Amino acid sequence: MSFENRPDRDAEVVLVGRSNVGKSTLMRELTGHSFDTGRKPGVTRQPNHYDWAGTDFMFTDLPGFGFMSGVEADHREQIKTNVVRYIEENAENILAGILVVDGKAVIDIIDRHEQRGNIPHDVEMFQFLQEVDVDPIVAVNKMDKVDDEDERLDDLCDRLGLYPPWQQWQEIICPISAKRGNIDSLEAVLRDRFHEAKRDELLQFVS
Ligand code: GDP
Repeated sequence: MSFENRPDRDAEVVLVGRSNVGKSTLMRELTGHSFDTGRKPGVTRQPNHYDWAGTDFMFTDLPGFGFMSGVEADHREQIKTNVVRYIEENAENILAGILVVDGKAVIDIIDRHEQRGNIPHDVEMFQFLQEVDVDPIVAVNKMDKVDDEDERLDDLCDRLGLYPPWQQWQEIICPISAKRGNIDSLEAVLRDRFHEAKRDELLQFVS
């Protein structure tokens, strides 16, 4: 199984993350369109491309990986392998890789994996994006459920190898609440990235 039918676009922003972190909700906020066809975890295993604009650009929501109830481990591994391969193959066209995490749960999940001697998916994906020169942005979602925001974000920086305080990393760490429509910090960082990449014609997609 691999991903097929990638639209031929030169500029792309991809969303990656564990299942249930709110990627499709964020995709809807970014594009104004719902992609609700069979979004049962583990069922949608193909990327969702938002490529309806005339400009040579698309947002792509890659399938969620990690634990999904009712989906077997080898299938979950396969999904992750496909996501990694997709990013590797298209790295040159990817202007930003948004790693979406659940702000409420991410620290506990990372620490649990580490205690078992495994590399946590989120840490692995963050490092992978850096390795393939797709500068990661971390969209820390569901912040509406978090009380101790600064502490959480500092902990997340620590786990990702970014020296706290998190405020030093506002070009990478974006606290958001996709469900509440509060994604300003992420859109601001995307605008900066597009501008730096001399792609100002793409600013219309993040206003
Ligand atoms: P995906 O599997 O990553 O695509 O996740 P979904 O977009 O389907 O969201 C998973 C669940 O998280 C849904 O119940 C959403 O309503 C919820 N959710 C998404 N974003 C937020 C958010 O910002 N805050 C809260 N509290 N819930 C959210």
